[in-house]
Amino acid sequence: MNLIIFGPPGAGKGTQSSFLVESKKMFQLSTGDLLREELKSKSKLSEKLKIIMDSGKLVSNDIINNLIEKKIANPLINNNIIFDGFPRNIDQAKSLDKMLSKYQQKISLVLNLKVDNFILVKRISGRVSCSVCKKPFNKFFDPPGDPSECTTKACINRELIKRSDDNESTVSSRLKTYEESTLPLLKYYDSLNVVRNVDAMKSINQVTKQIIDIINDI
Ligand code: AMP
Repeated sequence: MNLIIFGPPGAGKGTQSSFLVESKKMFQLSTGDLLREELKSKSKLSEKLKIIMDSGKLVSNDIINNLIEKKIANPLINNNIIFDGFPRNIDQAKSLDKMLSKYQQKISLVLNLKVDNFILVKRISGRVSCSVCKKPFNKFFDPPGDPSECTTKACINRELIKRSDDNESTVSSRLKTYEESTLPLLKYYDSLNVVRNVDAMKSINQVTKQIIDIINDI
C-alpha cells in the first residue's frame, strides 16, 4: 500500500513516518529530505534551492517530479511508500497519479494530520533531528536523550541538526504556502474517498495509535 502523510509543517509527518518505517517496514519518501541531500552537493542548483526553501516557497514541480519518479521506479520500495511532503499542489498530485499508474500502483490512504496553527510554531522552532538516521526530536515536547534511542548503530556518532528554515520568520511563510497551495489538495483526495483525519494535537504516542488503528482497518 502507498500512503500520503498530509498536514502543515510541524504537524508531525516526519515523526509519525519514522514509526511506520519501523513498525510496518514501509519506505519514507520525503521530498524535503531529498532536497536537503541535494543542498549538501553545493552545486549551482543547490544554491537556488536553498534560497527557495529558506523563503518558505515551493521548489518547481519539474525538479520534484523528477526526484519522485526515480524512487517510484525502484522495485525494492514500490507499493510500500509513505509520501511525506509530497504532493504539495494539484499539479504534483496529478503527476503522482500518472507516475503510480505507470507502475500499476495507486494511493490508498491520505492521513490528514490536523493541528491548530498556534502549536505549529512552537513545534517547528524546537525541532532537531539525528544527522545519521534523520529521526526527529523536539526540545520542548520530545527532547533528545542518549543516541541509543535512534534507529541505527552508526547513530552513536550523531549530531543533532537544526534545519535552516525552522525559524519563526520562515514558518509563517511556509504556513501561508501550505494554506494556499497544499490544503486545497484535500478536496481532490476526498473525492477519491481516501482521506482519514487524525487528531495530531494529541501526544506522539496517541497520534501513532490513531494511525495504526486506521491502517489496520484498511
Ligand atoms: P519539508 O521538509 O517537507 O518541510 O520541506 C522543506 C522545503 O522544501 C519546503 O518548504 C519547500 O521549499 C521544499 N519542498 C519540499 N517538498 C516539496 C514539494 N513537494 N514541492 C515543492 N517544494 C517542496
